[in-house]
Order: sequence, then structure tokens, then C-alpha cells
Amino acid sequence: MKIENLKKAQVGYVNTPLEKMSALSEALGKGNLYIKRDDMTGLALGGNKARKLDYIVQFALDNGYTALMTFGGVQTNHGRLTVAAAVRFGLKPILVLKGAKPDYMSGNLLLDRLMGADIYFVDTTAADKLPEEQQAAAKKKFLDECTEKIVAQYEAKGEKVLNIPIGGQTVIGSAGYIQAIPEIMRQMKEQNIQAKHLVVGYGSTGTFAGLWAGAKYYHAPFEVIGIPIEPDYRPVNETVDFINELSRTFELGFTCKEEDLHLEMGGEGSDFYGGVGYNEPDHTTQSYIEMLAKTEAIFADPCYTGKVLHGFVDLLERGVIPAGDGAILMHTGGAPGLWTKEHLDSMQETYWSDETTDHVCVMKL
Ligand SMILES: *Cc1c(COP(=O)(O)O)cnc(C)c1O
Repeated sequence: MKIENLKKAQVGYVNTPLEKMSALSEALGKGNLYIKRDDMTGLALGGNKARKLDYIVQFALDNGYTALMTFGGVQTNHGRLTVAAAVRFGLKPILVLKGAKPDYMSGNLLLDRLMGADIYFVDTTAADKLPEEQQAAAKKKFLDECTEKIVAQYEAKGEKVLNIPIGGQTVIGSAGYIQAIPEIMRQMKEQNIQAKHLVVGYGSTGTFAGLWAGAKYYHAPFEVIGIPIEPDYRPVNETVDFINELSRTFELGFTCKEEDLHLEMGGEGSDFYGGVGYNEPDHTTQSYIEMLAKTEAIFADPCYTGKVLHGFVDLLERGVIPAGDGAILMHTGGAPGLWTKEHLDSMQETYWSDETTDHVCVMKL
């Protein structure tokens, strides 16, 4: 199936802005820096999963599914966008979240509830008491059992449930990012932008893989650099296999090898870009979120884009991205994560205090 012939639903908006970050470019002094605003895909406050869902929803509609079910961490952005896409296309939204139910609803959870999602928390904290080597298998087994039960429950009510993996990590979903490449190339041409590097987050990896495959297939003038967003990131060989599957499925005509992929995680003489853990607050990532907010009034998020920005800036400062080459930061969204309880708590220390500061004053009558 040729990629160009693949049909898609319109769950949000593509043709997101490609903008120059003038103030950040000036502050860093490493040449022209740009940002691709996939935080502005429009679906339920935006984000990268909209491009994947364009193709996933079309698949669901073509195959008679009546419900979209997906998985993720408690604050999954992908979950939020999947719920939104389901609502807009009249499908039932079902979220299966890995973790304990938080006492306090915040961030994406609030949005999920407002959109009417059915939410199941699969809480495997009890497995932490097992011997280390048995934990992963026990958690997976329980998740599989829960999934089966949940699906059976909806099927008994006559629903046909599409099971969408974590992050929308599917071949069909990645078509959205293959097709983002001609869009970026057209925008570069229209705006006379030169850039030899495009930097993007590496999570469940469908975004990176799609962009990589698209850049290869459409002969993009830039390389795609992936920044893992957690220390425990997905093995590169799995991503290579996935990219080759994209190439076979969509007749892209190339084979990818491990040494072809460019990931940068920091850690040698600089901080690890992925911070301390998946969606765990850290002050380094917060300082990069602040940097972008202060220079460009654009909000990165604490789980993904703040970390990718950290990598982007560090690679420029260390010359891994040579000064003057031109570089594009892919903003994949996620800002609702700023309002999650744990991140708000962590940021109080830095940005808020009981005392008067130079920037936060109280004037009482
Ligand atoms: C999911 C997500 C990513 C990572 O994309 P993958 O395709 O899972 O690698 C990056 N940023 C945000 C805001 C996300 O929600």
C-alpha cells in the first residue's frame, strides 16, 4: 500500500506552524533555530498523537469499530487525544491507565473526565513485593487479564473495541509522521528556511520512527535526532525493526540499520536529558521549560518536550549540532501535564514562596 494512497480521518489540524525562535536563537548564538508547533494540532489542546490518530481513526471507521480503547501512564497525553478523537467521531472512549488511582484529579485526568471517558486504573503496586525478576511478568499478566475482562464487558454490550497500543505505537499511526515530512519540507521552501537537523522526543517511538522513515523516503534536507525522554528507553533494535516494517508496509523502498539512527541522551559531561524517570518532576527539566517560556512564550511540558528542549540546547552548546547549520525542534505538545499535582507541587519551591521576592510581591492596604 503506497503511503500517498492511505486515507485519513481529520481528527485535528495538520499544517501546524513552523516558526523561527528568534529570541532563543539570539540567546544561544548558534544560528537560526526553528520550532514545529505540533502542540497546535488543535485536538483537545493539541499534541503529536493527533497525526497518528488521523490514520488510526480512519482504520476504526473502515472496520466497523464502535469504541477506542488505549493504554498509558496515569497522565497520558495520548490517552487524552484518543478520548477526544473518539468523542468527535461518535465512538466510545475507554482508557486503561497503569498505576494507582490518584486521590486528587489533575492535568490530563480532568480533561479525560470532562470528555466522558471510561477510566480503568490497573494498579500493580502489589507486584513490587515480588522478587525483582518476577515483577514485569506478573504486571504484564495482570494487565492482559484486565484488558481481556474490560473488552469482554463492552462486547457483551454490543461494542466493537479497537485496542490501540500505548502511545498509538502502530504502523498505521506512524503514517501520520511519515506524512509530516513533505509538510515540513514545503514550509521550509516557502519560508526559505535552511535546517540540517530536526530534534524530536523518543518515547513509544512512533513519532521518531515515522519522521525518520519520511525523511529517508522524501529525501529531507535534515537528519532526525531522537531524544529519549526517560532513562529506561525503548531498545534501538526494536525501533529499527519497526522502521523496516513501515518501509515494507508503505513501499518506501529502504532498509534501516541500527547505525543509521541518531539518538542523543546526554549523560557524558552533561545531565541525562531524560531526567530521573518517566514523568517524574526534576528541576533541570523545569529550567528548560522556563527558558522557552521566557524567550518565546511557548510552553514545553515536564514529561516530554522540556527534556527534548534540554537535549536540543545541549547539543547546540556542545557543537554536536554545529553552529549555523539550522535546527528544528519538534514540539509534540503535552503542556496540560504542567498542571498535574506532582509537577505543580515540585514547581512551588522554585516559582512560589511565602516570602516576597523580586518578582512576586504582595501590596496590602
Ligand atoms: C507521546 C508523546 C511523545 C512521544 O511520542 P512517541 O511517538 O510516543 O515517541 C512526545 N511528546 C508528547 C507530548 C507526547 O505526548
